[in-house]
Amino acid sequence: MTSKNQILFEKSQQLIPGGVNSPVRAFRSVGGTPIFFKKGLGSKLWDVDGKEYIDYINSWGPMIVGHAHPEVIEAVQAVAANSLSFGAPTGLELEMAETINKLVPSMEQIRLVSSGTEATMSAIRVARGFTGRSKLVKFEGCYHGHADSLLVKAGSGLLTFGEPDSAGVPAEVAANTLTLPYNDVEQLEALFKQSGEELACVIVEPVVGNMNLVKPKEAFLKALRELCTQYGVVLIFDEVMTGFRVHLGGAQALYGIKPDMTTLGKVIGGGLPVGAFGGRKDIMSGLAPLGKVYQAGTLSGNPVAVTAGLKTLELIQAPDFHKNLAAQTKKLVDGLVGAAQKAGVTFSGQSVGGMFGLYFSEACPTSFDEVMASDKTVFNTFFHSMLESGIYLGPSAFEAGFVSAAHTKEDIVATIAAAEKAFQKILSDK
Ligand SMILES: *Cc1c(COP(=O)(O)O)cnc(C)c1O
Repeated sequence: MTSKNQILFEKSQQLIPGGVNSPVRAFRSVGGTPIFFKKGLGSKLWDVDGKEYIDYINSWGPMIVGHAHPEVIEAVQAVAANSLSFGAPTGLELEMAETINKLVPSMEQIRLVSSGTEATMSAIRVARGFTGRSKLVKFEGCYHGHADSLLVKAGSGLLTFGEPDSAGVPAEVAANTLTLPYNDVEQLEALFKQSGEELACVIVEPVVGNMNLVKPKEAFLKALRELCTQYGVVLIFDEVMTGFRVHLGGAQALYGIKPDMTTLGKVIGGGLPVGAFGGRKDIMSGLAPLGKVYQAGTLSGNPVAVTAGLKTLELIQAPDFHKNLAAQTKKLVDGLVGAAQKAGVTFSGQSVGGMFGLYFSEACPTSFDEVMASDKTVFNTFFHSMLESGIYLGPSAFEAGFVSAAHTKEDIVATIAAAEKAFQKILSDK
């Protein structure tokens, strides 16, 4: 019998390229059919055929208080009744700016946008306007949304001009993007020594969540801060994923490093489209209408989206919210690592706050090259076995996982039990 899911996917592929509205949703890397969902509640999801899952994607991060949290839904319903959009300022945007500034004080001035991509794209324009320089530095394996200048592949070595990672990105645009390996202080110092005065900004995921999870070496973040200060380069922390998730104050609070600018997304909208960028007042005052850097948005600061975000940010300020989230996430990872050890499967895992990384390698990776070296075939077996047991993980060996405050002890126990089964399947396939 053909499932509803299969029918939807087949029809979607006729009208939507690949059947999905964002490539990460397709199961290209693991094979099989993407799951179409119709309902979520707390830590659980239900697909169109009625199968239940424990969700470790959490919409890629935003659903930190769980799906359909009654207070978030109620707030959204109430504000929606006052009109969905004005295209004019509202008090809600001020409330959001005040909340961001309180939780992430390095963001002295803030502008709201509608996605993480818009936030990073705009932050870079502001940094270029402020410094009058064109070049930017990013790191291999870090994702900063799909703006042209950020879709650049890792160049093979120091000072290699960027090559576009995507068709449609002109080489002239990519040429202004320099890429370096993550966590490599030596190459960073060498690049600054050679071209520091030409750099407008460095953009970095302070904990990487887009090549699976990679933790920063503290010396790396420290060197970034010192070099940017020394050469007058704007340091941008892309906290679209880590913001409000690894710590209430983001990775910058966790590691005690103050960037010049920060970008936010995901959790800040609680599941609706909100992004933000902000930072030093002298930099942000370059933005129109005050300054000469243009940036705009018809739906920026949308009242319904901002309300979902504000309510989410209110809920995560409950006492010990992040402490409990981090403990729950660690319990999951420790359980999975323990089960793998018992089964004799090569596996490692780690977490930062409510984010986790699972790897089919001896040790947790610290760079893109190490992430690429993990066993993808084994991951695919693991992924499909988990999915069959009702555990919904990111459909690629290069995605981080997310735990929400709604995940219970029972969810963790069920997940570890499913993993035991998956590890046996891996062994029997060998
Ligand atoms: C998700 C993500 C983005 C892009 O955000 P969108 O809302 O998908 O445009 C940018 N940077 C990081 C670090 C992200 O994780």
